[in-house]
Amino acid sequence: MELLKQRIIKDGHVKAGNVLKVDSFLNHQMDIGLFSEIGKEFKRLFADCDVTKILTIEASGIGIACVTAQFFNVPVVFAKKSQSKNIDGEVFTSRVESFTHGRVYDIIVSKKFLGPNDRVLIIDDFLAKGSALEGLCKLVGDSGATLIGAGIVIEKGFQEGGERVRSHGVRVESLAIVDSMNDQTGEVFFRD
Ligand code: 5GP
Repeated sequence: MELLKQRIIKDGHVKAGNVLKVDSFLNHQMDIGLFSEIGKEFKRLFADCDVTKILTIEASGIGIACVTAQFFNVPVVFAKKSQSKNIDGEVFTSRVESFTHGRVYDIIVSKKFLGPNDRVLIIDDFLAKGSALEGLCKLVGDSGATLIGAGIVIEKGFQEGGERVRSHGVRVESLAIVDSMNDQTGEVFFRD
């Protein structure tokens, strides 16, 4: 998505440790006009898939998922990062390792909000090592819902997550795939 790539080049910052900071428009301050274009693009990509629910993970996926959901006209469920596995007793749970924070936590979704009749599109801001996306895929699998695929805003193609999740047969559509980036020069190079 050209608009997104140009925005990353203009306002993104490459940090040491393979971190791309995009907090001025994506995951701290949020450019809702850009989110709208992102949502439209996800709708175009998954138009004929009969999506009934969008699933994301707190916190930074929520804004993008909500704007996207307006184009699909479906509810958004977000997985909560939790210490205690108990909301109303009945939850699906899986374990996620945070790339940016370097720790492990459980994510949970209430069984009230995900079930065999759902056709789920996962939305998230970043795909890096794939732990967050794999955790979300597991929640969908455990619920008996159909996994339609995943819409990712920025995939870091030089990290292993995208390849691993796709190798399990999941359709992953990333709007910008970063092939390499340089924290010395600040340059970001995209896959075509
Ligand atoms: P993964 O589980 O694929 O390793 O990482 C996915 C999660 O880590 C995303 O939800 C995102 O919040 C965070 N993340 C991973 N890489 C980056 C990055 O380069 N920049 C930012 N801002 N967040 C990242």
